[in-house]
Amino acid sequence: MEIEFVRYEMTARLGDPRRDFALTDFPLEIRVCPLHGRRTRFTPVRIKGANLHEDDWPDVEAAVRESRVGCPFCPEAHERALSTLDESRFGARLLRRGQSVLFPNLAPYGPYSAVAILGDEHYTEVGAFDPARYLDAFLLSRDYLRRVNEIDETVRYAAITQNHLPASGGTIVHPHLQVQADAYPPGFVAELARAQADAFARYGRTFWPLLVETERARGERFVAEHRGWCWLTMWAPQGYHEVWGVYDAPGALDSFTDATAEAMIDGLLHVQRWYRARRRNSFNLAVYFFGDAAHTSLTCRIVARGNWAAFARSDRSFFEIVLGEQVMDQWPEDWARELRSYFGR
Ligand SMILES: [Zn+2]
Repeated sequence: MEIEFVRYEMTARLGDPRRDFALTDFPLEIRVCPLHGRRTRFTPVRIKGANLHEDDWPDVEAAVRESRVGCPFCPEAHERALSTLDESRFGARLLRRGQSVLFPNLAPYGPYSAVAILGDEHYTEVGAFDPARYLDAFLLSRDYLRRVNEIDETVRYAAITQNHLPASGGTIVHPHLQVQADAYPPGFVAELARAQADAFARYGRTFWPLLVETERARGERFVAEHRGWCWLTMWAPQGYHEVWGVYDAPGALDSFTDATAEAMIDGLLHVQRWYRARRRNSFNLAVYFFGDAAHTSLTCRIVARGNWAAFARSDRSFFEIVLGEQVMDQWPEDWARELRSYFGR
């Protein structure tokens, strides 16, 4: 059995001023995600004004220097600036592993929102994270989530996420992860849980291994199998340079072993080096965990964001924000072709 990829094709005809107003047909395409059913609209390449500097590597040196002043995540500020855990429930006010420190998010999104600082270094360029420090922060977050599960059985969903640089929606430059654990899942996590259950009912198999099998055979969006994780771009991406990592184990906290996490970070760093080469300095990522992990897989997802710079066009416009549909003027097949070389394929 194969995953079905649905697309709708359209044409727009207009007199193109760049071609002496000759009537020109522009092909357009809508693709439907085979998992959650969200649509992505592929358009001709959007006009690129030279004033947008979209292909420049932004010089953020001055902004980084400014952000260092009073940074609450730099080590000398920890004791006075970081919020503290309820010691009676977590055994300490701050949790530590190597240079990583975990504490409650001062702007909580839920009862267990937490932040794990990635290390002492105030600024790290995309793709240049120290793998051991990155791993410490992920494992510290995982162990915190284990403790949350022990003390609160209503928690059904969890995620470890990252905003890298303010263009990704983060407020603090100093690299850090966010940890989220809820009885009520965030919207997309709820969709993901429901869609994986629906896919199992439809295909009689867990969705992700079937997708990997299908994509590997088709070869268009499959990037690489690297240390047990399969990396691929998506038929209907929900963001620019969106890449998913799939590990063939249930999407449960127990599947996220030290070795699995280390291999995932290695893969994510390969993707981030591609982002660096594509001159994207900012991204969001997530690893998803389900309390009822039947018919789910362990997955992570990374999406590049518009660059952090003094002036930068956001990659979310009216179509994504108010019409609720991702618009793309690039193709996931091209991304997979390019990204393969970063995995040595
Ligand atoms: Zn800092």
